[in-house]
Amino acid sequence: MTATAPLVTRFAPSPTGFLHLGHAHAALLAWRGAREAGGRFLLRIEDIDSTRCRPEFTEAILEDLRWLGLDWDGPVRVQSRHMAHYQQTLAALRQRDLLYPCFCTRGEIAREIAASASAPHGPDGPLYPGICLRLPAGEVEARLAEGEPHALRLHMSRALRCLEGPLTFEDATRGRIACDPAQFGDVVLARKEVPASYHLCVTHDDARDGVTLVTRGDDLLPATDLHRLLQVLMRWPEPDYAHHPLLADAAGRRLSKRDGAPTLRDLREKGTTPAEVRSLAGWSD
Ligand code: GLU
Repeated sequence: MTATAPLVTRFAPSPTGFLHLGHAHAALLAWRGAREAGGRFLLRIEDIDSTRCRPEFTEAILEDLRWLGLDWDGPVRVQSRHMAHYQQTLAALRQRDLLYPCFCTRGEIAREIAASASAPHGPDGPLYPGICLRLPAGEVEARLAEGEPHALRLHMSRALRCLEGPLTFEDATRGRIACDPAQFGDVVLARKEVPASYHLCVTHDDARDGVTLVTRGDDLLPATDLHRLLQVLMRWPEPDYAHHPLLADAAGRRLSKRDGAPTLRDLREKGTTPAEVRSLAGWSD
């Protein structure tokens, strides 16, 4: 990014539940960054996974952010309404032979991994052992022609051969970081039941919306290695990154829905004011 580019940040929650203080912290960080620099703050709802996301949570997210005192620029981008965009990206990668169909069930993959001597793991779990890469071309074509459900995987070794130099990104607190996207193996970019993946949609949308600074929790730090690869493959611009520590509770545990972190709704019902929530989320007004 050039130093003169106007700052564009975003908050990109998934509507799988109500927002908690950790989300408020992330949203405020992105919002403040943009507002202090006279830039733009975008809101994106990452709801492509219809098996986990619910529209009522999307409504609740907008309401909670407004209650917290945040505003955003332009319309909210709701990913599930733009599947055609992600399909175009997949088609472009497929045309360059960088994707391949995978017909495997979870069980088949698990059995193959259990039977192999080594089972390398990446940030998203065990690496795919390449079963469908070994299928004869004729069989792949026949199964596709029959309409057999399949995922699309990135052919990682081919993708890496497209790189012309070292892959890195700039993190606000860590400086320049060298990427190792191979740690993801042949990652799924389109699932059987959801025809796009988080990694694909997030990089597509950040590029489409001109996001210049990606702020997000440091749990997503490894994912950035893969996102940089997708950006280079698609010739999308490289944003800067600011990965922040996730907010922890008094016992030092990272706040999460699963561990019952109080939601902004819970706090509001107990009479906590937006200013108090902002302060609990790590911000003084
Ligand atoms: N939707 C992701 C989440 O809720 C965040 C994506 C991102 O900021 O890159 O964890």
